[in-house]
Parts: sequence; structure tokens; C-alpha cells
Amino acid sequence: MRLGIISALAEEQYGLIEAMQGPAKLIHGMREYTAGKLWEIDAVCVLSRIGKVAAAMTASILVEKFGVTHIIFTGVAGSGDLGVRVGDIVVAESLVQHDMDASPLFPRFDIPLTGQSHIATDRELTRRLAVAAREFLENEALAPQMHRGLIASGDQFINKRSQISALKDALPDLLAVEMEGAAVAQVCFEFGIPFGVIRTISDNANEDAAVDFMHFVQTVASRYAFGVLKNFCAR
Ligand code: SAH
Repeated sequence: MRLGIISALAEEQYGLIEAMQGPAKLIHGMREYTAGKLWEIDAVCVLSRIGKVAAAMTASILVEKFGVTHIIFTGVAGSGDLGVRVGDIVVAESLVQHDMDASPLFPRFDIPLTGQSHIATDRELTRRLAVAAREFLENEALAPQMHRGLIASGDQFINKRSQISALKDALPDLLAVEMEGAAVAQVCFEFGIPFGVIRTISDNANEDAAVDFMHFVQTVASRYAFGVLKNFCAR
């Protein structure tokens, strides 16, 4: 396995590069890729920046230029369900691009000419991420829960109750909303690369989202990402 690890923001990946053995940096297409050994695993870490195009570009380069065989996206997300609270972890079982709508030519959410709307994550990576997440929450004696299910991505920071409830009406299984995962999913699907997405809930995608998001990212996000990925890689 050569594992690509993508996050959108520096705070979501803080500490991982420092934990790498023999890190080698390469700047390409306005991103810094760091290859090295993370605990037991040959890995390449990179920050995609925010949004679907940025994430798709980053995933493509990881595959084509760095030869990664698997990809994990780790970051934060807004809650898409009343049972999913700030501090909880969501491990994606499938991802949908919530702003994809070529109707009436194609059904809403269908990625035209692929026959796909919801793209499934790799079962084994997802299982390992879920184990790593549960172990992290138990070790930290944290009350937060781990959930598995649907994550929706789009080029919008969702910060209105009306927006999130309209999305929930259209996607009743929705657990979380973010801005990159489903783009990575499409690239990995098209290349046949197994991938997983894990997100910590930073906000409730409502009017308080911007403040909650900033606070969470500055205080807790990095501890989660680092703790879960350490469990994932070291086992
Ligand atoms: N104003 C912020 C913008 C961050 S965008 C800034 O200046 O940094 C939010 C990032 O966190 C994206 O990478 C997205 O994947 C995730 N995210 C967290 N909460 C979200 C929400 N409510 N809606 C969409 N994306 C969210």
C-alpha cells in the first residue's frame, strides 16, 4: 500500500508531516506533497485547499504522479442529521455531489455519463477507519459517537437552516456536508483506486456554522485527525 492522505486545511492535518520518517517534499501545481513513512505505512500527505475542483485535482496528481494505491480524505464537516453532533466522527460509506444537477437530462445528483450518483467508499478502508475512530474516541474517554453513512459534498459552505433542511429532504440518509469528499470519490472511482473519507463534525451547518467551524478547527480538529490516522497506520 502507498497511501495518499488529503485534507483541505492545515489544521486538519497538523502533526502528521512532523510524525513522518524520511519526509521528502515536492511542490507541484501550487501544492506541497510530502512523501515518507507514517508509522508502518508508505504515505504521501497533501493539503488540497477547499472545494471539489481543488480536491479532484489533488487526488488525480496523487494517483498519476505519486503512484498512490489508496486514498484517505480526513477533515471536518457540518452535521446533516439531528443525531450527529459537533465532535462526533462520520466515516463515509458513500458520497454524493449535492450541487450536481443536470436535470431533466439526467436525474438530480447523477454524475452525467457515469451512471453514478452515490459513490461507495472501499469496504476494507472504511472498516479500518471506523475501528481507528472508535478506538480513538474510547482511548480519549470522549463522549462523542462514531457514525457510518452518507456524506454530501458541494462548493458551498452550508450555513443556513433552510439550506441544510432542503438537502436533508432531498437526501434523507444524509449524515454530514462538506466540500471535497465526493470529488475525491469520483476521481478514485474512475481510476479504480480504493478510498475512504472520515470527517469530524465541526458545526451544525446552520447560522452558527461559521463561528463553530472556526472554533473547532482552531481547537480540536488536528487532535482528532492525528489520533485517528495514527491508529489507522500503526495497526
Ligand atoms: N471561512 C472558512 C471557509 C471554510 S470552508 C475559512 O476561511 O477557512 C469549510 C471547510 O470545512 C471545507 O473544507 C469543508 O469541507 C468543511 N466544512 C465544515 N463545515 C462545513 C459546512 N457547514 N458546509 C460545508 N463544508 C463544511
